[in-house]
Amino acid sequence: MFGFQELLLNFLFLIIFILFIPIILEIHYTKISIRKRFWLHNLSYSLAILSCICFPIQIMEGYVFDLRLVALTFGGLYGGIYSILTLGGATVIFRLIVGGSGATATLIVVMLLSILLVLLSNRFMKSSRNKKVILGTTLSLLAAVIALLNSTLLFGATLNILFIITYIIITLTSTAVIIYLYEIFNESILIKKRLLRAEKMEIVSHLASSISHEVRNPLTVVKGFLQIMLQTDLPLKERNDYLNISIDEINRANEIITDYLIFAKPSPEKEKVLNIKEEIQRTCNLISPLANMKGIEIETETQDLYFKGEEQSFQQCLLNITKNCIEAMQNTGLLKIKTKMVNHNLLLIISDTGKGMNKEQISRLGEPYFTTKGREGTGLGMMVAINIIESMNGNLSVESELNKGTNFYICLPLVEND
Ligand code: ADP
Ligand code: MG
Repeated sequence: MFGFQELLLNFLFLIIFILFIPIILEIHYTKISIRKRFWLHNLSYSLAILSCICFPIQIMEGYVFDLRLVALTFGGLYGGIYSILTLGGATVIFRLIVGGSGATATLIVVMLLSILLVLLSNRFMKSSRNKKVILGTTLSLLAAVIALLNSTLLFGATLNILFIITYIIITLTSTAVIIYLYEIFNESILIKKRLLRAEKMEIVSHLASSISHEVRNPLTVVKGFLQIMLQTDLPLKERNDYLNISIDEINRANEIITDYLIFAKPSPEKEKVLNIKEEIQRTCNLISPLANMKGIEIETETQDLYFKGEEQSFQQCLLNITKNCIEAMQNTGLLKIKTKMVNHNLLLIISDTGKGMNKEQISRLGEPYFTTKGREGTGLGMMVAINIIESMNGNLSVESELNKGTNFYICLPLVEND
């Protein structure tokens, strides 16, 4: 029926190669570089163009219609000049391989559309979601009209009016639907990134107050010793002792600040091999001021085991969990952090002797905004922690008993350290 089925099949190709595959890439391969991502997207868009060209509507001998221009319009608008050149080139080459008089027509249409895309892609990227849909659809309409006029005026094709209407309607709807869905998906990814950042800011500011308190103590000690040393008649041995204590105190303060900065500094991170023993030590340095203020003891039992991850993210994960443990305990208690090797995996056990959780609370753990701390809580800490663990191909499980305490089990794949 006027090419309706073929066009719907083309629409399916567009959904698969323009929406589905890039979205899967975005969700599961977050760590690939921007350049690689750009080329993978363009490869997927080129496959969209190729599949449309392979399943077209035959109008007359050597002359075909399909939705390849929608893929070119979409890829060109979002990708800019390099995508326009790549996808425009791919369209022409694929079409030339298929052959027939329509190949020359494609060259003309692609050139005209590419000029429009180059002129408009910058403006498109700066527009709001609705404007993007309108601009993209208008361009697609223009491309369809150019293709139709080109085929009738220059190449003498005779087109059925119902075909023309079907072709234009499906071109317009597919462009509008694809741009709209792509935008909604991008917005949700952006919101998630902002949430993660907000949660990090929350913990950064919370730690800052307890850490500045912890750094002030060594400074006071050092100041006292310096004042004593102002006395000229101090014996050399005593003077050396004071100097050594002062250096130790300064080193301690320095360590706390360094660890804090490693965590707080916003910097793009690379995955590397981490040692669980060092990471736990870092977390303890950061969290111990908070624990000290509440009279909570921290006990660790760790060994050198190696795994892959981003240091800042992993620190944030450990901090979110240990901070919850500390918050679950009322003045005094024990926070235990233990590591084990189980079936080539690293098992990290974090346990507290706090108020525990009931069944409903355990099942809701990790749900965004689930908190029992009222205005004090954000309800994002566990969600972020679980996200980080899952992105490292690990998993988290919980055991908890009311008024007894909670155990968190984190399982991560081990790697060899070389
Ligand atoms: P927040 O700490 O801001 O409330 P989280 O996502 O970090 O948000 O934690 C969600 C909820 O899970 C907490 O409000 C608390 O009820 C529960 N929870 C998390 N960890 C523990 C723990 N170690 N002991 C008891 N309850 C916990
Ligand atoms: Mg929390």
